[in-house]
Order: sequence, then structure tokens, then C-alpha cells
Amino acid sequence: GEALAVSARVAPLGSRLVLLLVEDLTEARRIEAVRRDFVANVSHELKTPVGALSLLSEAVMGASEEPEAVERFAGRMQIEATRLTNLVQELIDLSRVQNDDPLEDAEPVRIDELVAEAIDRCRHQAGAKQITMAAGGTADLSIWGNRGQLAAALGNLVENAVNYSPARTRVGIAARRVTAPGGDLIEIAVTDQGIGISDKDKERIFERFYRVDPARSRATGGTGLGLAIVKHVAASHSGEVTVWSSEGQGSTFTLRLPEAGAARDRATDDQTPG
Ligand code: ADP
Repeated sequence: GEALAVSARVAPLGSRLVLLLVEDLTEARRIEAVRRDFVANVSHELKTPVGALSLLSEAVMGASEEPEAVERFAGRMQIEATRLTNLVQELIDLSRVQNDDPLEDAEPVRIDELVAEAIDRCRHQAGAKQITMAAGGTADLSIWGNRGQLAAALGNLVENAVNYSPARTRVGIAARRVTAPGGDLIEIAVTDQGIGISDKDKERIFERFYRVDPARSRATGGTGLGLAIVKHVAASHSGEVTVWSSEGQGSTFTLRLPEAGAARDRATDDQTPG
């Protein structure tokens, strides 16, 4: 409709320009649709824990004579509060990835700092499920990139590992430097002993809003945006994210990103005249 009308108007200007304009319109419309979906989804997701908290606090007030009931309601309140915290965290992550050029304020970002932040972010949830978190190989490695976005990416992977694992399991984070033709890469692997992902779902989990089990995801404050954010951050840093998984056994998500020295050298080469 609209796109065709525009292309007809500018047709005399040459087909290349027309193509660009039409593509532009489609992209703008796609972004707008995603934004609308997102606002609708998140508003809906926020209403649930807020509503539950309000009901539960009333229940606590009415049960002041029964300590056991109060304790039970307080436990539920804690779960709903965690859900809210996770939703708000997801909003923060999204706002972090919305700037046009993430590498505008790129800097060397230390892996041990990123890992510490990611672990800190889900310490509470991991503690409640008695999940052990262990990190290795992170010393003296740095990635060239946007600190906030890299923190959002790794934070989401570690958070998922904790969310989709049963109690008393282990989440491992391992980093290493890998030699590659275009310059060294840093590989960060997040491994869990959780529910795993089927081959069919593996193809779709990086899409926005895709969740294998919406009820389970929602229970932990998931919106289905986490892995879309991870993929976006990896791509905008000239890196990639891949998944290996075995259903019922666990999953490993691997981020490969340019090593700080290598990426900086490439940037300097690009500026060399001639
Ligand atoms: P969510 O907010 O639902 O966690 P994500 O985009 O982070 O959204 O993940 C999309 C879906 O991929 C999740 O709903 C879940 O079904 C699946 N998933 C992600 N990480 C894992 C994991 N470590 N183990 C098993 N399933 C996972």
C-alpha cells in the first residue's frame, strides 16, 4: 500500500533509490511493530507480579494471627519481587542496546569484571536454588567493546543458565583466547546442567519473544527478549553467539568476540592512509 505509493512517486528518480526507500519504509514499519509488541508484552508482564504483590500484601495483613500463613505469603511475595526485578533488568538491558553505534564508546572491557557482574546479577536466584557458579580462565583477558552492552549479553546468558536449571546443579563460565585469521577472539562459554533445548527450538530461541515454555519463562520474569539482546550485541561487536544443547542434559552458550588488542589494531590499520 503505502510503500508502493511512495515507490510510484519517486520512480523517475531511478530504481536504485526506489529500492532503498521501500526497504527503508519496511524496516521502519518492522521496528515500529516490534516496539508496539514490546510495550504491550512488557506492560502485560509487569501487571502480573504487581497484581500478585498487592493481593499477597492484603493476605499478609489479614493473617497477622497465623505466623505460618504469613511466612508462606512472604515467600510468594519474594518470588513476585524477583520477577519484577528481572523484568526491570530486561528493560535496562534493552535501553542499553538501543543506541545506534555501540562501538562509539568502545573500550577494553576486562572479562573478569564482566563475569563478576554477571554472577552478581543472579546471585540471589542461584542462592535460592543452591546452584553453584564457577568461573575459570578469565584473568588477563579483555574484549574491545561497549561495556554496558557486553554486560547485558553475558548477564542474560548466566541468568538463563540459572533460570532453566534445577536446584543443586552447577553453572560454569569459562573464558579463553582463540587464534583466528582476522585477529584473536575471546570465547566465553556458559554451561548449565539444565533442561536443555530441542533441535527444533534451537533455531528459534534467538528470535524476539520466542519462548519454549512461556509459563516457565514468565515464572522467572522472562519476556523472551534476552537471547535476542545477546545476538544483537554479538553481531554489533563483529562477534557471534552459538548454542550447543542436549535435552535433559544441559546447554552451553558460547560468545565469541574480538579480543581488545586485536580489535584495536584492526581499527588503527583502517585509519592508515592509502
Ligand atoms: P526468556 O526471557 O524467556 O528467558 P530468552 O530470549 O533469554 O527469553 O530465551 C528464550 C527461550 O530460550 C527461553 O524462554 C527458554 O525456553 C530457552 N532458553 C534460553 N536459555 C536456556 C537455557 N540455558 N536452557 C534451556 N532453555 C533455555
